[in-house]
Amino acid sequence: MELLQYAATIAANSGTTVTALVLGTTTEAEMSSLGNYGANKVLHVSDARLDNLNSAAYTKALVTAAQQEQAQVIVTAHDVTGKAVAPRVAARLQAGLVAGAVSYPDMTNGFVVKKTVFAGKAIAHVNISSAIKVITLISNTFPVKPGAGTATVAALSVDFTDKDFAVKVTAVNKVTGTVPLSEAELVVSGGRGMKGPENWGVLIDLAGSLGAALACSRPVADSHWRPHHEHVGQTGGTIRPNLYIAVGISGAIQHLAGVNGSKTIVVINKDPEAPFFKAADYGVIGDAMEVVPRLTAAVQKFKESQN
Ligand SMILES: Cc1cc2nc3c(=O)[nH]c(=O)nc-3n(C[C@H](O)[C@H](O)[C@H](O)COP(=O)(O)OP(=O)(O)OC[C@H]3O[C@@H](n4cnc5c(N)ncnc54)[C@H](O)[C@@H]3O)c2cc1C
Repeated sequence: MELLQYAATIAANSGTTVTALVLGTTTEAEMSSLGNYGANKVLHVSDARLDNLNSAAYTKALVTAAQQEQAQVIVTAHDVTGKAVAPRVAARLQAGLVAGAVSYPDMTNGFVVKKTVFAGKAIAHVNISSAIKVITLISNTFPVKPGAGTATVAALSVDFTDKDFAVKVTAVNKVTGTVPLSEAELVVSGGRGMKGPENWGVLIDLAGSLGAALACSRPVADSHWRPHHEHVGQTGGTIRPNLYIAVGISGAIQHLAGVNGSKTIVVINKDPEAPFFKAADYGVIGDAMEVVPRLTAAVQKFKESQN
């Protein structure tokens, strides 16, 4: 939804339209609802083999759609799918690529997109000078506001060969019942200061009371205290939630790289010298096992007072 709005803004500024590409099994209603977020047209490749990410086949579908539509700008999310597909599409179309954009393109003098570099320490202004441009956008960069547009839906036929499906997905284990981390507006994250997986209950309770997703630092995932999909940072996910609560995390630069785009950062750490406090909007110096349950109780009390 965010991508469609992003594309719609670029299209409006360049006097063109937005085509969304939908791959795999879906419903007519879901596709036409994309009009509410800025799509003028939806192209659907109805092939169940596309239900799971397959970078070769997705690349071919996106290149086919882009060529048919004579797309000037192609946007994907900066997620596992986008990171696998966008560079391949850019290479096929001889297009410049900005991976991990955090701004709309500035088209006043060229086509300049901002992205964070050096683990979030600096912002690069990248000018794409090729005719076709490819951008992967970091999720949660812009708020999503549904509108009342409509989109036409058309089938797209792609000339797949067996080679495009050389990689086969044999099993999919979906995480259920939690907010996907990349889309979460509120995130509660734990580090090595939590001492062990047996102490995660306090973070799960806080996340539950806030309706937040859970995240963690890399050593936590490496030690199998938490699953790897919760790992954020330079080598993990990049997130930009409205609120990031970091508990028992020192704030190493590699960790900050994945979270310093968060709108508000709260740090709970027993060491007043922990580097994370420098990046924090609010800090609590204290023991996680004492502070977090009290924070959860305060959230519960606040929620009750609102009912
Ligand atoms: C190439 C490379 C890539 C990396 N990528 C990532 C990445 O993507 N993500 C990532 O997170 N790291 C990454 N790292 C590792 C990173 O450098 C740090 O080692 C890591 O982030 C530290 O994790 P931590 O803050 O959980 O643990 P620690 O650094 O051990 O910090 C634990 C913190 O908990 C506090 N604490 C201890 N007990 C308590 C308590 N009872 N209550 C409250 N606070 C307490 C301590 O004061 C300390 O600040 C990478 C490193 C390299 C070299």
